Amino acid sequence: MIRCVDVRKTYRTGGREVQALRGLSVTIDEPGFYAIMGASGSGKSTLLHLLAGLDAPDSGEVSVCGKRIDSLSERALTTFRRDEIGIVFQQFNLIPTMTARDNIELPGVLAGKNARELRERSTELVGLLGIADRADHRPEALSGGEQQRVAIARALLFAPGVIFADEPTGNLDSRSSEALWSLLASISRDHQTTIVMVTHEPSAAAHCRRVFVMQDGVVRSTIETDGIDASGLAAEYQRHSRTA
Ligand code: ADP
Ligand code: MG
Repeated sequence: MIRCVDVRKTYRTGGREVQALRGLSVTIDEPGFYAIMGASGSGKSTLLHLLAGLDAPDSGEVSVCGKRIDSLSERALTTFRRDEIGIVFQQFNLIPTMTARDNIELPGVLAGKNARELRERSTELVGLLGIADRADHRPEALSGGEQQRVAIARALLFAPGVIFADEPTGNLDSRSSEALWSLLASISRDHQTTIVMVTHEPSAAAHCRRVFVMQDGVVRSTIETDGIDASGLAAEYQRHSRTA
Protein backbone atom coordinates (compact mmCIF):
# COMPACT_ATOMS: atom_id res chain seq x y z
CA MET A 1 0.00 0.00 0.00
CA ILE A 2 2.78 2.41 1.02
CA ARG A 3 6.44 1.57 0.65
CA CYS A 4 9.53 3.71 0.93
CA VAL A 5 12.96 2.21 0.41
CA ASP A 6 16.17 4.13 1.16
CA VAL A 7 14.60 7.49 0.37
CA ARG A 8 16.89 10.52 0.35
CA LYS A 9 15.99 14.17 0.01
CA THR A 10 18.36 17.12 0.37
CA TYR A 11 17.23 20.74 0.17
CA ARG A 12 19.71 23.19 -1.30
CA THR A 13 19.00 26.85 -0.67
CA GLY A 14 21.45 29.72 -0.87
CA GLY A 15 24.54 27.51 -0.77
CA ARG A 16 23.25 25.68 2.30
CA GLU A 17 22.37 21.97 2.26
CA VAL A 18 19.86 20.29 4.55
CA GLN A 19 19.55 16.52 4.41
CA ALA A 20 15.87 16.21 5.28
CA LEU A 21 15.58 12.46 4.58
CA ARG A 22 18.64 10.25 4.98
CA GLY A 23 17.86 6.79 3.68
CA LEU A 24 14.34 6.42 5.07
CA SER A 25 12.48 3.13 4.71
CA VAL A 26 8.95 2.39 5.87
CA THR A 27 6.13 0.04 4.88
CA ILE A 28 2.39 0.16 5.50
CA ASP A 29 0.68 -2.93 4.14
CA GLU A 30 -2.72 -2.86 5.84
CA PRO A 31 -5.44 -0.20 5.72
CA GLY A 32 -5.76 1.80 8.92
CA PHE A 33 -5.02 5.02 10.74
CA TYR A 34 -1.29 5.69 11.23
CA ALA A 35 0.66 8.45 12.93
CA ILE A 36 4.07 9.94 12.21
CA MET A 37 5.68 11.63 15.21
CA GLY A 38 9.09 13.19 15.67
CA ALA A 39 10.86 16.36 16.73
CA SER A 40 10.51 19.50 14.66
CA GLY A 41 12.86 19.28 11.67
CA SER A 42 13.05 15.46 11.71
CA GLY A 43 11.61 15.28 8.18
CA LYS A 44 7.92 14.49 8.79
CA SER A 45 6.51 17.04 6.36
CA THR A 46 9.13 16.20 3.76
CA LEU A 47 8.11 12.53 3.94
CA LEU A 48 4.43 13.42 3.60
CA HIS A 49 5.16 15.65 0.60
CA LEU A 50 6.98 12.81 -1.15
CA LEU A 51 4.21 10.30 -0.34
CA ALA A 52 1.61 12.74 -1.69
CA GLY A 53 3.57 13.30 -4.89
CA LEU A 54 4.07 17.00 -4.15
CA ASP A 55 7.83 16.64 -4.46
CA ALA A 56 10.26 14.00 -5.71
CA PRO A 57 13.06 12.28 -3.77
CA ASP A 58 16.71 12.54 -4.86
CA SER A 59 16.91 8.75 -4.74
CA GLY A 60 15.05 5.75 -3.40
CA GLU A 61 11.69 4.14 -4.01
CA VAL A 62 8.34 5.70 -3.09
CA SER A 63 5.29 3.53 -3.80
CA VAL A 64 1.71 4.50 -2.91
CA CYS A 65 -1.44 2.51 -3.73
CA GLY A 66 0.75 -0.03 -5.52
CA LYS A 67 2.27 2.58 -7.81
CA ARG A 68 5.87 3.81 -8.02
CA ILE A 69 5.57 7.59 -7.85
CA ASP A 70 9.21 8.61 -7.36
CA SER A 71 9.85 8.79 -11.08
CA LEU A 72 6.47 9.86 -12.49
CA SER A 73 6.21 12.85 -14.81
CA GLU A 74 4.64 16.05 -13.45
CA ARG A 75 1.55 15.32 -15.49
CA ALA A 76 1.19 11.76 -14.17
CA LEU A 77 1.72 13.06 -10.64
CA THR A 78 -1.11 15.55 -11.05
CA THR A 79 -3.45 12.70 -12.04
CA PHE A 80 -2.14 10.57 -9.17
CA ARG A 81 -2.83 13.35 -6.64
CA ARG A 82 -6.31 13.93 -8.01
CA ASP A 83 -7.48 10.32 -8.35
CA GLU A 84 -5.65 8.21 -5.80
CA ILE A 85 -5.01 10.26 -2.68
CA GLY A 86 -6.38 13.08 -0.53
CA ILE A 87 -4.34 15.70 1.29
CA VAL A 88 -5.23 17.72 4.39
CA PHE A 89 -3.03 20.46 5.82
CA GLN A 90 -2.96 22.46 9.02
CA GLN A 91 -4.24 25.46 7.07
CA PHE A 92 -7.64 24.54 5.72
CA ASN A 93 -6.96 26.14 2.30
CA LEU A 94 -10.63 26.81 1.58
CA ILE A 95 -11.76 29.38 -1.00
CA PRO A 96 -13.29 32.18 1.13
CA THR A 97 -15.86 33.29 -1.45
CA MET A 98 -17.34 29.81 -1.91
CA THR A 99 -19.74 27.88 0.32
CA ALA A 100 -18.61 24.75 2.12
CA ARG A 101 -20.40 22.60 -0.42
CA ASP A 102 -18.83 24.39 -3.39
CA ASN A 103 -15.40 24.05 -1.80
CA ILE A 104 -15.96 20.31 -1.42
CA GLU A 105 -17.10 19.94 -5.04
CA LEU A 106 -14.38 22.17 -6.52
CA PRO A 107 -11.85 19.43 -7.44
CA GLY A 108 -14.67 17.62 -9.23
CA VAL A 109 -15.74 20.75 -11.09
CA LEU A 110 -12.12 21.32 -12.16
CA ALA A 111 -11.96 17.72 -13.35
CA GLY A 112 -15.11 18.22 -15.43
CA LYS A 113 -17.30 15.78 -13.48
CA ASN A 114 -21.07 15.70 -13.78
CA ALA A 115 -22.67 18.43 -11.63
CA ARG A 116 -25.57 16.29 -10.40
CA GLU A 117 -23.28 13.44 -9.36
CA LEU A 118 -21.02 15.92 -7.57
CA ARG A 119 -24.00 17.29 -5.68
CA GLU A 120 -25.00 13.77 -4.61
CA ARG A 121 -21.45 13.04 -3.50
CA SER A 122 -21.07 16.29 -1.54
CA THR A 123 -24.43 15.67 0.16
CA GLU A 124 -23.17 12.25 1.22
CA LEU A 125 -19.90 13.75 2.47
CA VAL A 126 -21.36 16.60 4.53
CA GLY A 127 -23.56 13.96 6.19
CA LEU A 128 -20.58 11.71 6.89
CA LEU A 129 -18.62 14.60 8.39
CA GLY A 130 -21.52 15.97 10.43
CA ILE A 131 -21.65 19.36 8.71
CA ALA A 132 -24.84 18.98 6.65
CA ASP A 133 -26.41 22.03 8.34
CA ARG A 134 -23.29 24.11 7.57
CA ALA A 135 -23.02 23.19 3.89
CA ASP A 136 -24.35 26.47 2.51
CA HIS A 137 -22.16 28.71 4.65
CA ARG A 138 -18.90 30.30 3.61
CA PRO A 139 -15.73 29.42 5.57
CA GLU A 140 -15.84 32.69 7.57
CA ALA A 141 -19.13 31.57 9.16
CA LEU A 142 -17.66 28.21 10.22
CA SER A 143 -15.59 27.28 13.26
CA GLY A 144 -12.05 25.99 12.75
CA GLY A 145 -13.19 22.43 13.37
CA GLU A 146 -15.99 22.79 10.82
CA GLN A 147 -13.59 24.27 8.26
CA GLN A 148 -11.23 21.35 8.69
CA ARG A 149 -14.17 18.96 8.19
CA VAL A 150 -14.90 20.73 4.91
CA ALA A 151 -11.25 20.26 3.90
CA ILE A 152 -11.47 16.56 4.81
CA ALA A 153 -14.70 16.17 2.82
CA ARG A 154 -12.95 17.78 -0.15
CA ALA A 155 -10.05 15.34 0.24
CA LEU A 156 -12.55 12.45 0.25
CA LEU A 157 -14.43 13.62 -2.88
CA PHE A 158 -12.99 10.97 -5.21
CA ALA A 159 -12.97 8.27 -2.48
CA PRO A 160 -9.17 7.96 -2.42
CA GLY A 161 -7.48 4.89 -0.95
CA VAL A 162 -5.11 7.03 1.12
CA ILE A 163 -5.39 10.36 2.92
CA PHE A 164 -2.30 12.25 4.08
CA ALA A 165 -2.75 14.80 6.85
CA ASP A 166 0.01 17.11 8.12
CA GLU A 167 -0.82 18.29 11.66
CA PRO A 168 -4.52 18.62 10.75
CA THR A 169 -5.50 19.92 14.18
CA GLY A 170 -2.62 22.38 14.54
CA ASN A 171 -5.06 25.30 14.42
CA LEU A 172 -7.83 23.75 16.55
CA ASP A 173 -8.65 23.79 20.24
CA SER A 174 -8.35 20.53 22.15
CA ARG A 175 -12.04 19.66 22.06
CA SER A 176 -12.36 20.12 18.29
CA SER A 177 -9.10 18.24 17.87
CA GLU A 178 -10.33 15.24 19.83
CA ALA A 179 -13.55 15.19 17.77
CA LEU A 180 -11.56 15.35 14.55
CA TRP A 181 -9.28 12.45 15.50
CA SER A 182 -12.30 10.29 16.35
CA LEU A 183 -13.81 11.22 13.01
CA LEU A 184 -10.63 10.31 11.10
CA ALA A 185 -10.46 7.02 12.98
CA SER A 186 -14.04 6.15 12.04
CA ILE A 187 -13.55 7.15 8.39
CA SER A 188 -10.50 4.94 8.24
CA ARG A 189 -12.37 2.06 9.89
CA ASP A 190 -15.67 2.30 8.03
CA HIS A 191 -14.39 3.15 4.57
CA GLN A 192 -11.20 1.09 4.38
CA THR A 193 -9.27 4.32 3.87
CA THR A 194 -5.68 4.47 4.99
CA ILE A 195 -4.94 7.72 6.81
CA VAL A 196 -1.37 8.79 7.53
CA MET A 197 -1.25 11.72 9.93
CA VAL A 198 1.71 13.77 11.10
CA THR A 199 1.13 14.90 14.67
CA HIS A 200 3.04 15.93 17.77
CA GLU A 201 0.14 15.10 20.06
CA PRO A 202 0.17 11.76 21.88
CA SER A 203 -3.64 12.08 22.26
CA ALA A 204 -3.90 12.10 18.47
CA ALA A 205 -1.55 9.18 18.03
CA ALA A 206 -3.56 7.18 20.58
CA HIS A 207 -6.34 6.96 17.96
CA CYS A 208 -3.92 5.34 15.51
CA ARG A 209 -2.94 1.69 15.25
CA ARG A 210 0.77 2.35 14.87
CA VAL A 211 3.12 5.28 15.35
CA PHE A 212 6.23 5.77 13.24
CA VAL A 213 8.82 7.71 15.20
CA MET A 214 11.10 9.84 13.03
CA GLN A 215 14.50 11.15 13.97
CA ASP A 216 17.11 12.88 11.80
CA GLY A 217 15.47 11.97 8.51
CA VAL A 218 14.70 8.31 9.08
CA VAL A 219 11.96 6.26 10.73
CA ARG A 220 13.85 5.23 13.85
CA SER A 221 11.23 2.99 15.46
CA THR A 222 7.55 2.09 15.58
CA ILE A 223 5.11 1.96 18.48
CA GLU A 224 2.15 -0.42 18.39
CA THR A 225 -0.63 1.43 20.17
CA ASP A 226 -2.75 -1.59 21.13
CA GLY A 227 -4.29 -0.92 24.50
CA ILE A 228 -2.16 2.17 25.22
CA ASP A 229 -3.95 5.40 26.17
CA ALA A 230 -2.69 8.92 25.47
CA SER A 231 -0.55 9.22 28.60
CA GLY A 232 0.90 5.75 28.10
CA LEU A 233 1.70 6.69 24.56
CA ALA A 234 3.33 9.96 25.63
CA ALA A 235 5.61 7.98 27.95
CA GLU A 236 6.35 5.40 25.26
CA TYR A 237 7.14 8.16 22.76
CA GLN A 238 9.53 9.80 25.24
CA ARG A 239 11.26 6.48 25.72
CA HIS A 240 11.61 5.94 21.95
CA SER A 241 12.88 9.49 21.40
CA ARG A 242 15.51 9.08 24.09
CA THR A 243 16.82 5.65 23.19
CA ALA A 244 16.60 6.22 19.44
P1 ADP B 1 9.24 18.43 10.22
O1 ADP B 1 7.97 18.42 9.43
O2 ADP B 1 9.53 17.13 10.90
O3 ADP B 1 9.33 19.58 11.19
P2 ADP B 1 10.49 19.08 7.68
O4 ADP B 1 10.32 17.90 6.81
O5 ADP B 1 9.60 20.23 7.45
O6 ADP B 1 10.47 18.62 9.20
O7 ADP B 1 12.00 19.62 7.54
C1 ADP B 1 13.14 18.78 7.63
C2 ADP B 1 14.38 19.63 7.42
O8 ADP B 1 14.40 20.13 6.09
C3 ADP B 1 14.43 20.86 8.32
O9 ADP B 1 15.77 21.09 8.68
C4 ADP B 1 13.90 21.98 7.44
O10 ADP B 1 14.44 23.21 7.81
C5 ADP B 1 14.38 21.54 6.07
N1 ADP B 1 13.47 21.97 4.98
C6 ADP B 1 12.18 21.60 4.82
N2 ADP B 1 11.65 22.13 3.72
C7 ADP B 1 12.63 22.88 3.14
C8 ADP B 1 12.72 23.70 1.95
N3 ADP B 1 11.67 23.82 1.12
N4 ADP B 1 13.90 24.30 1.69
C9 ADP B 1 14.95 24.15 2.52
N5 ADP B 1 14.96 23.41 3.64
C10 ADP B 1 13.81 22.78 3.95
MG1 MG C 1 6.25 19.64 9.52
